[in-house]
Amino acid sequence: MTQLFGGIEAGGTKFVCMVGTGPLEVVAENQFPTTQPDETIQKAVEFFKPYAKRGELAAIGIASFGPVDLNLASPTYGYITTTPKPGWSLVNLRGCIQQALKLPITFDTDVNAAAFGEHYWVPENHLLDPFLYMTVGTGIGVGILANGHPLHGLIHPEAGHFAIPHNLQKDPFPGACPYHGDCLEGLASGLSMAQRWGQPAETLPDGHPAWELEAEYISLALVNLIYACSPQRIVLGGGVATHTGLHETVCCKVQQRLNGYVQSPIVLKEIKDYIVAPSLGNRSGVLGAIAMAIDMAISETPKRLSR
Ligand code: ZN
Repeated sequence: MTQLFGGIEAGGTKFVCMVGTGPLEVVAENQFPTTQPDETIQKAVEFFKPYAKRGELAAIGIASFGPVDLNLASPTYGYITTTPKPGWSLVNLRGCIQQALKLPITFDTDVNAAAFGEHYWVPENHLLDPFLYMTVGTGIGVGILANGHPLHGLIHPEAGHFAIPHNLQKDPFPGACPYHGDCLEGLASGLSMAQRWGQPAETLPDGHPAWELEAEYISLALVNLIYACSPQRIVLGGGVATHTGLHETVCCKVQQRLNGYVQSPIVLKEIKDYIVAPSLGNRSGVLGAIAMAIDMAISETPKRLSR
């Protein structure tokens, strides 16, 4: 019997659940809105239950919105911690799913999982390390792989909340982040664009000043990430980032800001191969969660055999 793996992309807006072995074999997939924790977690459990009962599922990966607790030694490991999303603070997401399904479960941020997925499933990315994934959607998040593993630490990277220069004369909008006001997410997320311009980001037409400002903020964050992490490739995903022309403008602005200082041929001459769209489209997170589950099962096999 082929062993299957489960992936959950637990987003602030919706949950995406998948069973399969990777992008080429997706056995089942479902998505539903993120409502109250009990109801949403129950829906995820019901989705996986038939596969778990039949013994087909080897492990599940969870790619969660955050912040989350990734410290294995912490009593709140696997919890969503300080989110402003009502009802979701201190929710034991990993534990509830583990208790219901009795399966090995690995857990990380949605963006670390997306970085892992793009690295794991896309052959051209395999040798690129550090490797970085930035999503610009309703919120902004950054996942980082270093030495082949998602970067954790004090908590985990939170580069969506970078402090970036904010010219109040050019952009008087005070920012939308409930914690910091005009941090990167406060100025450049889809939510902040909707508040600043009075209409959803996806309805803002080409040529609207919103897009030039958006490219400005994203490029500021990316140059800081390039200086801090020296990634070998950056994947720029998320709904806002798919707007026509935005990617190209961001690449130009990153090159201008670096101003020849980072002496790497790909950055100097082929920046469109350096800052790229996700190869897995909008499935980077959930396929990353499946990759995490496979990776955990493989790394745990020898330990199981030796018991
Ligand atoms: Zn913030």
